[in-house]
Amino acid sequence: MRRLLCLLTFASFAFSQQMDPDFARSVKEWTTRPEFISPLVDHLPKSSTVPSPKDILGYYPGAPKKLTYYADMLKYYHALAAKSPRVKVIDIGKTDEGRECVIVYVGSEESIRNLETERQYLADLADPRKVSEAQAREIIAKAKPIYHIMGGLHSAETGPSEMLMELAYRLATEDTPLIQKIRDNVIVTITPVAEPDGRDRYVDWYYKYKINDTGEDNEAPGPPYWGKYIFHDNNRDINYSQKTTQRLLGWYLQWHPPIMHELHESEPFMYTFSGQAPQNPTLDPILYGELPWFSNFEMEQMTKYGMPGVWTHAFVDMWSPGYLGFMSSNHNGMLRMYETFGNGGANTMHRHIDGGGRGGAPAGGRGGRGGGPTAREWYRPLPPYRETDWSQRDNTNYEETGVLTALQLTSAFPQIILENFYQKSKNSIEDGKKGPVHGYVIPAGQPDMTRVEQIVSILRLQGIEVGHSTGEVQLKEGTYPAGSFIIKRDQPYGRLAKILLEKQVFPDPSLTTYDDTAWTMGLMSEANVVESKDAAILDVPAPLIDKYEVHGTVTGTGAYYAVLDHGSNNMVTLRYRIKDVAVRANEQEFKSGDQEIPAGSFIIPASAMDQARPAIESLGLTAVALNAAPTVAMHDVKPPRLAVYSTWGSTQEVGWVRYAFDHYEIPYDLIFKERVKQGNLRDSYDVIVVPNQGRGAKGLVYDVEAPKNRPPLAYEESDEFKSLGMYGSSPDITGGMGLEGVVEFRKFVQAGGVMVTLGTASSFPAEFGITRDVDASRTSPQFYAPGPIVEAEILHTSNPIFYGYSEKTVPVRWANGPLLQVPQKDREQEVLMRFPGGDSSVLSGLMRGANEIRNRPAVLDVPVGNGTVVLFATNPCYRWQNFGEFGMLFNSVMHYDDLKAR
Ligand SMILES: [Zn+2]
Repeated sequence: MRRLLCLLTFASFAFSQQMDPDFARSVKEWTTRPEFISPLVDHLPKSSTVPSPKDILGYYPGAPKKLTYYADMLKYYHALAAKSPRVKVIDIGKTDEGRECVIVYVGSEESIRNLETERQYLADLADPRKVSEAQAREIIAKAKPIYHIMGGLHSAETGPSEMLMELAYRLATEDTPLIQKIRDNVIVTITPVAEPDGRDRYVDWYYKYKINDTGEDNEAPGPPYWGKYIFHDNNRDINYSQKTTQRLLGWYLQWHPPIMHELHESEPFMYTFSGQAPQNPTLDPILYGELPWFSNFEMEQMTKYGMPGVWTHAFVDMWSPGYLGFMSSNHNGMLRMYETFGNGGANTMHRHIDGGGRGGAPAGGRGGRGGGPTAREWYRPLPPYRETDWSQRDNTNYEETGVLTALQLTSAFPQIILENFYQKSKNSIEDGKKGPVHGYVIPAGQPDMTRVEQIVSILRLQGIEVGHSTGEVQLKEGTYPAGSFIIKRDQPYGRLAKILLEKQVFPDPSLTTYDDTAWTMGLMSEANVVESKDAAILDVPAPLIDKYEVHGTVTGTGAYYAVLDHGSNNMVTLRYRIKDVAVRANEQEFKSGDQEIPAGSFIIPASAMDQARPAIESLGLTAVALNAAPTVAMHDVKPPRLAVYSTWGSTQEVGWVRYAFDHYEIPYDLIFKERVKQGNLRDSYDVIVVPNQGRGAKGLVYDVEAPKNRPPLAYEESDEFKSLGMYGSSPDITGGMGLEGVVEFRKFVQAGGVMVTLGTASSFPAEFGITRDVDASRTSPQFYAPGPIVEAEILHTSNPIFYGYSEKTVPVRWANGPLLQVPQKDREQEVLMRFPGGDSSVLSGLMRGANEIRNRPAVLDVPVGNGTVVLFATNPCYRWQNFGEFGMLFNSVMHYDDLKAR
C-alpha cells in the first residue's frame, strides 16, 4: 500500500512526458523481485532530440550480459552533450595507457552556460580569505553546489559505470519535479570510469571468460591486472602517485565540488557510508553531522520505497584519509560512498548472503556486532535476504535510486551544503590560529634534501600552502635556518596538512579499522618534520612557493669525486643513469679534508664526470672532489641483472614495486611462473625480488586455483581482446610455480643468485626450506596492527643494505610480515635489523600486542650455497608511501654482490 502511494505520486508527474514503454517493460523483466526497484527509476523519458544510452549503445544500462567498453561510454557522453544544452564533457588528461579521462557536467541550461561563474563561486567559498563574510553570504545565496559522482574505480565493480549513463540521461531529460529541482539547484558532475584502463581490461576478460559464469560457485577468477600497476589500492593512493588519481585531484582543486561520491560494489544490498568510528578527529566536526544526515535519508527513503537491505554502519570507518573520495573531506568538502551488491559482471546469479560472501568471506558486519549481514540492527532496519537472485539491473536500480535520493536532499538544501563547505573552510583557518598545533617546519639543511623535496611536492599537489622562510626561524621548538619550509595551519587546507604530518593517535585500541592506522609523512620519509605549538609560526616571513626542486652540486676538482650517500632514493637512479661508468662504494666512512664521506658514497673517476655531472645535478645529489684516492675498502657498484617475480593471482603489491622501480629508473624483467619453470634462472639474473604478494608461502607457490570444468585461463592479447596480455602474458594463469618452481628458486640461490623477499613473501623461503634454518610463524589472534609505524634497530650498521642510514634506530611500517626466527648460533651473523617491540616502540598508529614482536628479526641475510637470501619482515616498498625504507631495497639491489661487506 505504502508502495502504491509512492508510485502514484511519481507517476502522476511522469505522465506529462512521453516515457519509453520498452524501457519499463525490460527493466521490470530484469529486476529479479518487484521490491528491488523504486518509482524513481522504473521509467525513462523518451526524447526525440536527446539520445538515450540505448540509442547509442543498442541496449539499456543494466541489461543482462552487457558491459560497455570505455570508448563506447565516451561516445555516449559526447553524443549526449552534443544534443543536450544541459550536458558538457571536458577532458582532464590521459591514463597510463592513453585513454582520455573526462568529467561530465549535467545541470540546467543556465548552469551549464555559467559553469565558469559557478566554478569561481566555489573557489571563493573554498578560500574564505578571498571574500568578506557578507560576500560569502551573497555567493551562498546564488551559487549551486557541485555534486561529483564517480564509478568504476574498481574494475570488477562493473555496475556503477553502466548506471551513470542512464543517470546522466535522466537528469538531462526527465521533467518530474524531483529531477527538475535537482537540475535547477545542483550541478552534477560525473567521472564515468575512475580507472579507464582497468575497465577495458575487465570488460575484455568478462566477455572472454566471465560471461559463462552461471552462479557464485563456479565463477572464473578475475583478470591479473586492472590498471597498469595497482588493483583496489587506487583507493589507497594517499600520495597520488597514479596518473588517474592525479588528474582527478587536479580537477578537484579547480572546481571544488563540496561533495564527492564514490560508487563501489560488494555489500548486500546497499551500504551507504555514514562515517562511523574510529573517526579522524582532525577533520571538521561538521562533517560528522553531514555524513549520517545523508546516509539516514537514503536509508529512510529507500526503505519507504520498499527496497530491503539499505544500511549505514559496520563497514568502512573514518580513520584513514587515503581513500580517493577523501580528496573531498580532506579539502573541507564531504566524501560519500556506497557499496551495492554486485556479481562481478552482468550475469544474473543466485546469491547466498549469510556468511557466504564472495570467496567464502562473511559479507558485511566489519566492526559490527557479529549478527551477520542479514541480521536486523539499528542501522539495518530492513535487512537484505539470506538468498536471492540478483541481476545487474537490481544493482542499477539500487544505485540510481540512492544517488537520486542523495541529489534530492542536496537540491532541497543547496544553501546548507554551500554554507557548510564555507564554514568548514573557515574553521580550518581558525583552527590553525587557535592551535594547539599552529604549523610545521621542515628544516633546511637536512643531509638529504631530496626527501624534503618529495614531501613538499606532495603537499603542494594536495593544494597545501608551503612557505620558504626568508630568515632564521625561531620557535619554542627550536631555531631553524633560513630557507626552511613553513606550513602554517591558518590556511584552508591547514587541517589536511596536520592530518598528513601529525603522529596518528588511534582513539580506541578496542576498535578495528578498514585500512592503515598510520601514515605520518615525516616518519614514512625518515625526514625531520617539526610540529609547532608556537603561534609565532603564523607570523614567520615565508613567501609561498609553487614548488621546490633540489639542485645537486659538484664542488672542487680532483682525480676522484664522491657522490655523498645521505640516503637519497635518487642514488639508485644515478647508478642507472651512468650505468657504463665504473662506480665504487666506500665501505667505511672517511674524511677528505673536512668533508665527511659517508659509507656507501659513489666514488667516480674524474674522467666520468662529464657524464655524471648532469645526472648528479638534476637528481639533487651532492658530489665533492676528493684530495686523494680513498684508502678505505671499496667495492664495485654493479647494476645487477634484475628480475621481479610475480604470481598471476596477486599482482597488486608487485605493482607498487614496479611503480617504484619505474619511477626511479631501475630496469628489471617482470617474471612469472612460466619463466621460473623454464629453469636456469642464474644464467639470466643476479637478483630476483619477490615482493609481498598479500598471501602466505602456499599461496605464492600454488597461486590461482583452476576453476572446475573450464578451459585454461589464458591472459593473452588477441584481435578481439586487445587489453589482455599486457604487463605479462600466459597461456594459463592458474596453478602457480608449484614445487618445480621452488626447486628452480633454490637452484638459483645455490648457484650464487641473490633472492630478496619482502613482507609476507618472506615466509616462502622459510616454509619451503630454501633457507632451512629460518622459521616463520604468525602473530597470535589477539595481535592487531594495521600498518602502524614502529621502531626498528639496525644491528649491522655497516652492511651495504643500510648505506645512507645514519641512525641506528629507524621508523618502519609494520607490514604484517612473518615472525622470523633463526637458531642462536646464526643470529649475530644473519639478523641485520630487528624490532625492539613493546608499546614504547610504536611511533604512530596502533599495535595491539606489541610485545609479540620483541626482538624479532626485521631483516635477515641468510647465506645459501653460493648465494644469499635477504628476507625482509618489513615491506621496504609499501605503496607510494614509506619512502624512507625504499633505500634498503634499492641497496640490496645495487650492492647485491657485496652484501657480506661488514
Ligand atoms: Zn570498490
